[in-house]
Amino acid sequence: MNRSTLLADAARLLAEAGVASPRVDAELLLAHVTGRTRSGLLTLDAVDEPAARRFAVLVDQRVDRVPLQHLTGRAAFRHLELAVGPGVFVPRPETEQLVEWALARLAGVPEPVVVDLGTGSGAIALSLAHEHPGARVTAVERDPDAIEWTRVNAAARAAAGDRPVEVVAGDMTDPRLLRSLDGGVDLVVSNPPYVPDGARLPREVADHDPPLALWGGPDGLDVVRGLLGTAARLLRTGGALGIEHADQQGTALPALVRAHGGWDDVADHPDLAGRPRFTTARRAAA
Ligand code: GLN
Repeated sequence: MNRSTLLADAARLLAEAGVASPRVDAELLLAHVTGRTRSGLLTLDAVDEPAARRFAVLVDQRVDRVPLQHLTGRAAFRHLELAVGPGVFVPRPETEQLVEWALARLAGVPEPVVVDLGTGSGAIALSLAHEHPGARVTAVERDPDAIEWTRVNAAARAAAGDRPVEVVAGDMTDPRLLRSLDGGVDLVVSNPPYVPDGARLPREVADHDPPLALWGGPDGLDVVRGLLGTAARLLRTGGALGIEHADQQGTALPALVRAHGGWDDVADHPDLAGRPRFTTARRAAA
């Protein structure tokens, strides 16, 4: 089968189904079935029959709005490729900026103690361990299905030579969580569930990301309220907090942190698209 025709037909089907980036998705799926990189497709003229059949099956699933990352089994996040699939939240590019901020806060601290609350695939925790080789990172996840993916990714990164991330099953709102770290943590970071109940989400998200990773109650901030207590208990004075939030929460979340008390330097930051995306604060002296 001719590569250009296959791609053009697939991209048309995907566009008709309302997929946001039909051409890119078609190329990534064809690259996946042929074992090539996306740019490697340029030197591929003919696609053999079995590969073309596998491609057609994946395109059909993508037309049904199965996330691209579930079809390839991989999600790119900063410098890492993480294993993902049903049961775990697919990491998003928006969150990469939160990692950038965290790395800047940890610069010059040789062995910072870091906690990622609600780690999912491990994207934030494993990126910090990879990009700050001295960091001692603990990754917390309460969803028993998601934590299987955390463990797979943590094991893969440790095998690749990164300092191992400790994976802990637990709820970020539990007052007994990580008691042994109380007052000794340099950075708490989280991409918690923050979608307000009733919000409309793309089918890829609503049907395939775990509900526990998304929904945050009437204003989306229920889990964040519990997280603030945990972060305040874990952080040392001067320690840093970074929490991702929805576009519309750029005022509400900083206000919540100020009202909670015990925090200085409360600030909000945009993502690469310029949308309000995460709130940061510094643990004040008790
Ligand atoms: N940004 C995600 C989405 O829009 C939501 C992530 C979250 O609740 N942490 O699908």
